Amino acid sequence: MSLRNFQALRLDAMSRDFGSLNALKGISLTVGRGEFIALLGPSGCGKSTALNCLAGLMPLSSGSIWLDDKRIDTLGPEARGFGMVFQNYALFPHMSVRKNIGFGLRMQNRPKAEIETRVAEAMRLVRLTDQGDKLPGQLSGGQQQRVAIARAIVVEPPLVLMDEPLSNLDAKLRLEMRAEIRRIHASLGCATIYVTHDQDEALSLADRIVVLKDGQTRQIGTPAELYGRPAHPDVAEFMGYRNVLKTKVTLGEDVRVTLGAASLSATPVDVTQPGPAVMAIRPEDLSPRADGPIPAVVQTAEYRGRDFFGVATMQDGTELYFRAEHAVKPGETLHLGADPHRILVYAA
Ligand code: ATP
Repeated sequence: MSLRNFQALRLDAMSRDFGSLNALKGISLTVGRGEFIALLGPSGCGKSTALNCLAGLMPLSSGSIWLDDKRIDTLGPEARGFGMVFQNYALFPHMSVRKNIGFGLRMQNRPKAEIETRVAEAMRLVRLTDQGDKLPGQLSGGQQQRVAIARAIVVEPPLVLMDEPLSNLDAKLRLEMRAEIRRIHASLGCATIYVTHDQDEALSLADRIVVLKDGQTRQIGTPAELYGRPAHPDVAEFMGYRNVLKTKVTLGEDVRVTLGAASLSATPVDVTQPGPAVMAIRPEDLSPRADGPIPAVVQTAEYRGRDFFGVATMQDGTELYFRAEHAVKPGETLHLGADPHRILVYAA
């Protein structure tokens, strides 16, 4: 039976233990065909373990994995036939680009003519048509990663799994390859699961992002949902809300939080009661303004081309990350403020 034309990949309470360590604690997720999913989380949260379990390189401790109504976690990696792209490319150094890409098809004993056609098609898709006779060592990092991608997709896998595939590339190439990966994904129509610890990468590539922490799903949502309204303070912190601060919330005509002597109108995420709470603000949303209610003294400020990012301390020593449109100097007192819909409040 071909697994290629599946409609949904379903993880049902996927778990994996290493001795007493629960590296994955019951991950459940349904991935539609054609969907691009990013698994995002800090080091050690279980991203690679999840990918290895999906690929069949590591058995589950409990739970199951399904392609439509076929259970696949009991199948070996070859029977699943997923495409894998790793951080270190893992190319065969002694084989030409063409041979590397055709490897999976040769393993499947495909006719020679079919292999040639499909390899040529894959090379065209990753824009390596004129590099077929070179050895991997004669290619740039970005080109090697393209070979690795071509090798993974040439077998027309139902699912492509990518483990931090861009982390060995320099910043410019990373941006270029991001766009390439998105384009290749769209032209294939398969599902892609992409592991990264880089929130920008996840935001720019994925249809949906799964944020993992300590082996658990913390939030699943579109990039816009995660960026604009993280469900937990720790997801917020991971999504660039560098100001995650203890506060007190009051519920009246509007929801207000206190910060030092200041009282700020804010947006509740899950607070329903007054009292101790946690607030989150992005540095780019906290700026000096005429009516800014939070006095703070600049400690450091960095020029970022269009504006300045810096750290300022409140009277009680609380550090705030802010953005300023004009140059600010250490020692200067700013009056910081943020729009109410940019101040998120969570139950403590
Ligand atoms: P990174 O971004 O650093 O690669 P990750 O999110 O991919 O991290 P995993 O490699 O999946 O994290 O590891 C999850 C947890 O499982 C970690 O605590 C790790 O130490 C542990 N772990 C992973 N592989 C093994 C193993 N083979 N034996 C024992 N513990 C392991």
